[in-house]
Amino acid sequence: MTASDLFPPTRDAALARIAAVRPGDYARTRNALDGAVTRLSPYLTHGFVSLPDVLAGVVQRHPLRVQHKFVFELGWRAYFRHVWAHRGEAILQSLHPGPLPEDAYARVLPADLRAGATGVPAIDQAVRSLYATGYLHNHARMWLASYVVHLRKVHWRTGADWLLGHLLDGDLASNHLSWQWVAGTASRKPYLFNAENVARYAPPAWDSLGTVIDVSYDALDAIARSPLAVNGKALATAGVDEPPVGASPPRVLPPDPKRVAGRDVWLVHPWALGDPPADLPAGVLRLGWWPTEPLARWPWSAGRRAFVAARMQAITDDQWQGDREALARALVGARSAATLADPHVAGALPPQVLQRPPAALFPEVAHPCASFSTWWHRATRGLVQAEELAGLQAWRAATGDQRSR
Ligand SMILES: Cc1cc2nc3c(=O)[nH]c(=O)nc-3n(C[C@H](O)[C@H](O)[C@H](O)COP(=O)(O)OP(=O)(O)OC[C@H]3O[C@@H](n4cnc5c(N)ncnc54)[C@H](O)[C@@H]3O)c2cc1C
Repeated sequence: MTASDLFPPTRDAALARIAAVRPGDYARTRNALDGAVTRLSPYLTHGFVSLPDVLAGVVQRHPLRVQHKFVFELGWRAYFRHVWAHRGEAILQSLHPGPLPEDAYARVLPADLRAGATGVPAIDQAVRSLYATGYLHNHARMWLASYVVHLRKVHWRTGADWLLGHLLDGDLASNHLSWQWVAGTASRKPYLFNAENVARYAPPAWDSLGTVIDVSYDALDAIARSPLAVNGKALATAGVDEPPVGASPPRVLPPDPKRVAGRDVWLVHPWALGDPPADLPAGVLRLGWWPTEPLARWPWSAGRRAFVAARMQAITDDQWQGDREALARALVGARSAATLADPHVAGALPPQVLQRPPAALFPEVAHPCASFSTWWHRATRGLVQAEELAGLQAWRAATGDQRSR
């Protein structure tokens, strides 16, 4: 299975996934690698669909209480964005001390790990499937991160940067804060797992009995609090080649100023790949834009580039790559320029581009919340049914959905 087989770069593919969600099965089986998870994350990260699109599509078929596991998991995504909004670049550093001092962890990923040849099948399968598909189940991400940080003693930031580069759904908030949660620098204790846990939730090929993770939780806790790395027995075979990251976006010329002059421009960046808003003026120029700075800072795999480029091509008149100044120059003659706001591009947009807020599912929680449970309590206080979420009501009004009240 490759990335393009699993994730066709169309909004219809995302809508089909939404239509296929079975919330009861999801709640019962989501921890298992073959459980009924949605695989919507690449589409959500790149804005093919929004959280309100997802929940509206699900509750249309399956009315849900707001406390349902499915709504709760969507909440994690929104919560990580909440932390990013409040903490900014601070999410790239440990939010508080973890089990060991920062300098107890290496800043380089071991070659056997990069090659999927650690000798721990759960880890090697995860790495190989990540490279092949650009996706990993949440449980596999947790195992991989826990192994990297607590057994191999590699700093969470090194692991987070590496994983981000290979994921189709790479999102700075969800990824880096999840690594911190596993590391114990954004949670009360480190996340640990053992071979028994893998055997319970993964298929037989992932079975890791008899390896370094086949120990008790007490032993794992002692390992996490010791500065000594636990390496295990690396595979004798060479492993797999790590696909390159840093695939360059299409390098086409900036738009001809004559095409832009006097026009209203809707700017489509890689995190805003939904259908253009219905209220755009007639004759609007839909311009695809690959922002140089964030893509140079957080390089992508070729699979992710292809995923985004295909969708951008389908919904724009033209696409090009440029930095903030080049974009400002390109838009000089435009009558107006607007886009959808996203923190990945916020710093790369010149002031003349109006940033429309994206559709939110949960109400904004102004108070910075250090824990998910505090945020969740505030975001859902007084609500019983998912339908009551203000974001869903606003979505219905904006899309003209008949159930709008
Ligand atoms: C180490 C690590 C790194 C991660 N990196 C990313 C990342 O870069 N981008 C990303 O979108 N998610 C990330 N996650 C969160 C989670 O693993 C993925 O969102 C989820 O696995 C995506 O698969 P899915 O769409 O099938 O999820 P489902 O279980 O079907 O959930 C539906 C949607 O809910 C949201 N969601 C579910 N669980 C979580 C969660 N734990 N945290 C945040 N959102 C969640 C996602 O938007 C997901 O698409 C990471 C988790 C870990 C432990």
